[in-house]
Amino acid sequence: MRAKSLEGTSLIVTRSKSFKLRITGLLGQLLAGLFLTLPVTAKSPIEEIADTSLPDIAAVHHEPGKSPVILYNPILCKQAGPALCEFYRYHEYGHIALRHHERTDITVQQKEEEADRWAAQRAPLRSILAAWKFFSSGGGTTPMHGDGPTRAARLSKGWDPGNLSRHPAPGTRLYALAL
Ligand SMILES: [Zn+2]
Repeated sequence: MRAKSLEGTSLIVTRSKSFKLRITGLLGQLLAGLFLTLPVTAKSPIEEIADTSLPDIAAVHHEPGKSPVILYNPILCKQAGPALCEFYRYHEYGHIALRHHERTDITVQQKEEEADRWAAQRAPLRSILAAWKFFSSGGGTTPMHGDGPTRAARLSKGWDPGNLSRHPAPGTRLYALAL
């Protein structure tokens, strides 16, 4: 069981805190100021809880009045491999970040599509590639999520040209790397 920050930006700030421990004085203050100017909103860390009875790799569990948690099945996670499991966890973070549990204006299928796209824009490249390969071969197919190849296409469309500093490989290179 461990907690993890919700957004990639939060992870950077977390790193900056340990960085500040080593770099002090004026340079440290300048770096701290730099990090503090990032458009980061305070978010509670989201708990990840292992549950071997979970019928899927990962899922969001939300009880009214409580913060949502991410459940994951460590056995299925191990079978899937760390990279694919990581993509699934990002997908669940997407559901939470997009507040899908509160929304009734879009369908379940649209929520799944949004969560895939959210993950495709934020997960490490290795995880996106693992998911792309898995989905391309028909894995991950469910009535809610859509068929695997459709999900794979979503991932390559998820590249945000304005976000390439964080994701150096645009969609065309993603295909080249995955094939
Ligand atoms: Zn989902």
